[in-house]
Amino acid sequence: MNQAATDKAQRGLDLEKVRADFPILERLVHDKPLVYLDTAATAQRPLAVLEAIDGFYRKHNANIHRGVHLLSQEATEDYEQARLKIARFINAPSERELVFTRGTTESINLVAHSFLRPRLQPGDEILITWMEHHSNIVPWQLLCEETGAVLKVVPMNRDGELEMDALAEMLSERVKLLGVVQISNALGTVNPVMEICQMARQHGIPVLVDGAQAMPHQAVDVQALGCDFYCFSGHKMYGPTGIGALWARAEHLQSMQPYQGGGEMIRHVTFEKSEFNEAPAKFEAGTPNIAGAIGLGAAVDYLQQLGMDNVAAHEAQLLAYGSEKLAEVDGFRMIGTAANKAGVMSFVLGDIHANDVGTLVDLHGVAIRTGHHCAMPVAQFFGVPATARASLGIYNTFEEIDVLADALQKTSEMFA
Ligand code: PMP
Repeated sequence: MNQAATDKAQRGLDLEKVRADFPILERLVHDKPLVYLDTAATAQRPLAVLEAIDGFYRKHNANIHRGVHLLSQEATEDYEQARLKIARFINAPSERELVFTRGTTESINLVAHSFLRPRLQPGDEILITWMEHHSNIVPWQLLCEETGAVLKVVPMNRDGELEMDALAEMLSERVKLLGVVQISNALGTVNPVMEICQMARQHGIPVLVDGAQAMPHQAVDVQALGCDFYCFSGHKMYGPTGIGALWARAEHLQSMQPYQGGGEMIRHVTFEKSEFNEAPAKFEAGTPNIAGAIGLGAAVDYLQQLGMDNVAAHEAQLLAYGSEKLAEVDGFRMIGTAANKAGVMSFVLGDIHANDVGTLVDLHGVAIRTGHHCAMPVAQFFGVPATARASLGIYNTFEEIDVLADALQKTSEMFA
């Protein structure tokens, strides 16, 4: 970051300027100004990201790595620069440990297939937590069915916090991997991932962290966390869809089998046998999402310019304000009341179905999510069929929370 950017980052968010960076915020929804409170599902994109993608296709588009012509060299340089930026953003020891994927889901599946599957024996255990997204449940279930391994689930309390004593008791030499979400998309809980990694390390258990919701909200340092695998998605952090990454320790990547076969991931091919490339190329078969990677690099630049501490502080203020303001709405009940929470407010409103709540506030221009948020066990735990969820991003304002509160109050009164 240059000095001007650093100075700006230290001054806090200039909210008006931030909002002006997001063209979509100018549009109307049902003739009302859009109030976008669905950033946990997908964030909006700033001009810097849109321009990076557009600029790539307009000026540099070519396939990467294998061309000698200038455009191909430029495209390769831009793609690899994006990798470097993203690796530095999470403080990875080397950009060679950063594999581009389609996103968190593909990153987790890659680890399941290439790392864990060959290491599993019947009776081995995979440990996850009660608040995982389906993408950190189903790949492990599939592996268990295939290998005879057993999926174990760390419980949580009524506030949506992990039961750390239970977690400690569940760690044993039978556990071959622990998967944990850093920030829950359904509850907003921020898990003590650093402590969990320390506990797991004492038993030699590798830890996979689902960082999908953490990346847009706070500074991430994979070395400080002490995890083995870190997975995230570009579209949650103001970058494009269809791109994300897996960070993994070099020794793991080296030991892992390729996930998919094809071009780019090989060094030498004959019909008898193929010799594979080094990581990360070994895990990037075929033409990758070049523009997506470049767009994600631009998103990282954008976030760095704002300063992740400013981002986290802004969202913490909004969350504190929102939690108080929404509590005044008739029938409002927050689902997820952890002491350490990020910008997610899941709730029920009396016995009004969440889908009705979502549909009615949409008429006020307010976009919130309703349903199980791809974490069905969480809804089951709290005994609700679905929740409504308002999630916060860098462009949200206190006034927008007021609009949501007002729309919810009107909804509540309609059903009274
Ligand atoms: N984990 C968490 C915590 C998420 O919020 C999401 C997206 N809702 C995912 C994983 C899956 O991300 P993607 O669909 O981008 O692969």
